[in-house]
Amino acid sequence: MDTLNEITDYANLLKLHYLKENLLKLIDNAKANDQTYQEFLITILKHEITLRDTKLQERRLKNACFPVIKTLEEFDLNFQKSMSKREFNELSELTWIDRIYNLIFLGPPGVGKTHLAIALGYKAVKEGYRVTFTTMDALMHTLKTAEISKKSKGMLNRILSSSLVIIDELGYLPITREEANLFFGLISTLHEQASLIITSNKGMENWTELLGDPALTTAVLDRLTYHCQVITMNGKSYRLEHRQSLFDQNA
Ligand code: ADP
Ligand code: MG
Repeated sequence: MDTLNEITDYANLLKLHYLKENLLKLIDNAKANDQTYQEFLITILKHEITLRDTKLQERRLKNACFPVIKTLEEFDLNFQKSMSKREFNELSELTWIDRIYNLIFLGPPGVGKTHLAIALGYKAVKEGYRVTFTTMDALMHTLKTAEISKKSKGMLNRILSSSLVIIDELGYLPITREEANLFFGLISTLHEQASLIITSNKGMENWTELLGDPALTTAVLDRLTYHCQVITMNGKSYRLEHRQSLFDQNA
């Protein structure tokens, strides 16, 4: 076996994918640039680490299940005046995830709750955190079917191993007593283990109505708000303000 084939085989065994795919290029490049042995090895190892990081990030992003990608850079603070620049920057730094703080975004439709939740989650994925996004409705389905569906079981396992779990749209659809109990079970399990972002169009004073039982609601709120920042987002709907007409009105 020639040496190139031998290296390729070893690279394959060691899962050094960059080296395996780019062996000739690396060697040619080393020759062209008069690389020392040390420089040559460093170049290979650096490429390998970059490739590994990219792949891990891609997997984390896929597992996060974001319905769309929204970024913090796209978030217009001049439109959402409920939050100061300083507060926004503090959230963007993500230290609250390490401190296992929860965030609750409250407000009417269109004010940017989901956008901000996804954008923070997306940044967290890029910084290496495990994140899972779900809507309340999808979460209920996951919890109810985890015993009988492989897909739901997988989703639940991902939620339980995440550092940040985003639960979007609490309160849009009514939930049953059984669902409220399952929700409480999950919140208790995640308590002090993962950060949560919960978005809701209902103020927390109305959550009893949502969860159907005052004692259960108190228990849920007790855990959620132990280390928590509640952000009430007011103002107009961004969607309505930036509504795009199909027909150009000036035409
Ligand atoms: P909510 O979840 O509060 O109903 P969304 O986050 O879904 O609202 O926002 C509705 C749309 O408006 C989305 O496309 C979102 O990207 C956009 N949007 C809302 N607020 C802002 C903002 N402050 N800056 C930029 N885009 C925004
Ligand atoms: Mg929303």
